[in-house]
Amino acid sequence: MGITLFSRREILSAASIFAGGYALQLQADEPPAGRKRFAIAIHGGAGKSPKGDEAPAVEKSLAEALGIGEKILKEGGTSLDAVEQVIRFLEDDPLFNAGRGAVFNAAGGHELDASIMDGKTKACGAVAAVRTIRHPISLSRLVMEKTRHVLLASDGAEQFADEMKVERVENSWFDTERQRKNWEKEKAEAAKQSGTGRSPLASEHLGTVGCVALDTHGNLAAGTSTGGLTNKKYGRVGDSPIVGAGTYADNATCAVSCTGIGEQFIRHAVAYDVSARMAYLKQPLKEAVAEILAKKLRPNDGGIIAVGADGTIAMDFSTAGMARAAADSSGRREVKIGR
Ligand code: ASP
Repeated sequence: MGITLFSRREILSAASIFAGGYALQLQADEPPAGRKRFAIAIHGGAGKSPKGDEAPAVEKSLAEALGIGEKILKEGGTSLDAVEQVIRFLEDDPLFNAGRGAVFNAAGGHELDASIMDGKTKACGAVAAVRTIRHPISLSRLVMEKTRHVLLASDGAEQFADEMKVERVENSWFDTERQRKNWEKEKAEAAKQSGTGRSPLASEHLGTVGCVALDTHGNLAAGTSTGGLTNKKYGRVGDSPIVGAGTYADNATCAVSCTGIGEQFIRHAVAYDVSARMAYLKQPLKEAVAEILAKKLRPNDGGIIAVGADGTIAMDFSTAGMARAAADSSGRREVKIGR
């Protein structure tokens, strides 16, 4: 008679079945060799570094956002929860072009875009051109979890928000003096150089927010939220709510969130391309990200954050700077804006 040896993992998961204990199961997930237990990266927009005393304020806010995500992941929470909560926090900070602090469009109002994706199931949800939703990232998650659709836009998305009892605010709630000044400046620039298809302020700090995470259960998630580009046309939708362009997650490869000139990220299906390069070309994550920025996109188009299934983090950009932060289970913790 042979003796059957059980691994620690099998014993723990059997114990969790007997105990009926989901919490115990959460603790029992040990990563395979070479994979980090958890990893998280955040961006607060690409472009020129924020000016003056804005830079330390942006760093402080990113550090706080990172702490929120790190805590969720450390305690065995899901990557989806970490992504949603980090982005909710940044949506409430007027320093970022997402939620409060969103840019002004050409009509002098705000239209917000967001998306979220679950790398385990490929479920995803997004909202586009919403005008009264305080937390577009959470409404995106509800689109993912409570409808059979992926993307709801404008009035329909707002009607859905009411059905879900999601908080709505006046459009003017998103106004900030900072963004009003940027809008005035942008209008003056746009009048000078029209028809290039390129934001004249491509080298300004853009301020969109995004988060990618790997949780202790081996699941990846990604999310992005933005007010779009300053002075954009009424009804213009960028890459942030387009799954495959601004956001993508697949447990087999990576989770990605982009920031920059949205039209470029849509044209080149950037977020999906990072994943596809890993899957088909077997390119390492950082190489895939660097190659897209250098070869497919134009200089100054933006930046990409990504986390691989093994917890590798990539944060790269072709602009002067990108507000960003990262942490993982090996003790890495960083917050940076410039090169
Ligand atoms: N990608 C966003 C958009 O084009 C803007 C940004 O990332 O700052 O709407």
